[in-house]
Amino acid sequence: MNRNQYITKEQVSIARMLNRGYFRLAKNVSKESTYRIRLGAVLVNKKPISVGFNKNKTHPTFTVSEKVGGIHAEISAIINAGRYDLKGTSIYVYREYSGGFPANSRPCIFCRAELKSRGVKWMYYTVSTLPYWKRERV
Ligand SMILES: [Zn+2]
Repeated sequence: MNRNQYITKEQVSIARMLNRGYFRLAKNVSKESTYRIRLGAVLVNKKPISVGFNKNKTHPTFTVSEKVGGIHAEISAIINAGRYDLKGTSIYVYREYSGGFPANSRPCIFCRAELKSRGVKWMYYTVSTLPYWKRERV
């Protein structure tokens, strides 16, 4: 009997996504969020630079993100990167539904503007359809 017959292509795709780059780390970070919708983000330059998750808190330098509710995971990761030069780096963003299936985590317009101004080059994020992730130029 082929034991693989019990593994769906959705499960295979989720496993592949989690093994790609830093999605697994972003997933683990997302669990720190106290929001109902939990997002985790990892800034990467060959290795992780910083991580962040969405939180219901404001920050003096990032008033723009208050408009969209608290600090987004991407902004949190940028803040946690401190003075690190983010030019040419990548960001991984993870979000899942309560059932554990990946959900859309494409960075919002405010976060994309901030990522772009810091020189972050690529964004990797989860989507709710196969193969459950996308890569896009910031
Ligand atoms: Zn955002």
